[in-house]
Amino acid sequence: MAEVVAQVLEVEILDKRETVARLYELIDQAERRLLLISPYVSLDKLRDLYRALDDALDKKTVKVTLVGRDCPDERNFVMKSDLLPKLQAKGLEVRLLKDLHAKMYVSEKAALVTSLNLTDASMNNSIEVGMWLAAGTEAYGDLIRVWKQQKAEPAVTTESDSGHSKPTLVARGAPQTRKRTSKAILEGCCIRCGTEIELDDAKPFCRECYPAFSARGSPTAKQNFCHECGRKESTSFAKPLCDDCFYG
Ligand SMILES: [Zn+2]
Ligand SMILES: [Zn+2]
Repeated sequence: MAEVVAQVLEVEILDKRETVARLYELIDQAERRLLLISPYVSLDKLRDLYRALDDALDKKTVKVTLVGRDCPDERNFVMKSDLLPKLQAKGLEVRLLKDLHAKMYVSEKAALVTSLNLTDASMNNSIEVGMWLAAGTEAYGDLIRVWKQQKAEPAVTTESDSGHSKPTLVARGAPQTRKRTSKAILEGCCIRCGTEIELDDAKPFCRECYPAFSARGSPTAKQNFCHECGRKESTSFAKPLCDDCFYG
């Protein structure tokens, strides 16, 4: 049923109840990647969510990343959780991002853009809406691209007091550091032949390969290389990056 929905309806507007239901569906059905972007998280009050994430991590094939907001006054808002370390021990990656206000939940199958935070207040007491985008659609690709732009900003580490090892902040206009992204800004690979070209998600083909693509190319036709890291991966014009590069 869910597959039918994903194929037939590429973009759907969801009410609160549907938004929550789709969030769990997204988590349950992910097989490779789960990216949960939520400024605020109250995992300890959301046992169903904890269990769903625990199950996803149990699959071992799903890379799960949670991105929360890093606010100076509430530095550990996301991290203040008894359950989070348990998920981290199973492979959950947690990052904090300054000024984060967007909420979106992404798997390799679909994306949910919504007002919903991963908090009990949001889940239980607030009026929320959501938009569901099936993977492979232009909107889904655009969404990831917008997120990648944010991620591609030079990364800096948290200021003085934060001795945490994990989070890397992404700050607009901050000086460049050695993050992988700073190197990747200029170097990419043609997704068809692997030749080195400029990194530009919108133009992932070299000059030789582009004509063939533009002549008969479907945006979702299978290509051979990741545009960013150059690994041999199943990619497409619509999704030119491998999962690791795609979700940053
Ligand atoms: Zn090429
Ligand atoms: Zn890659």
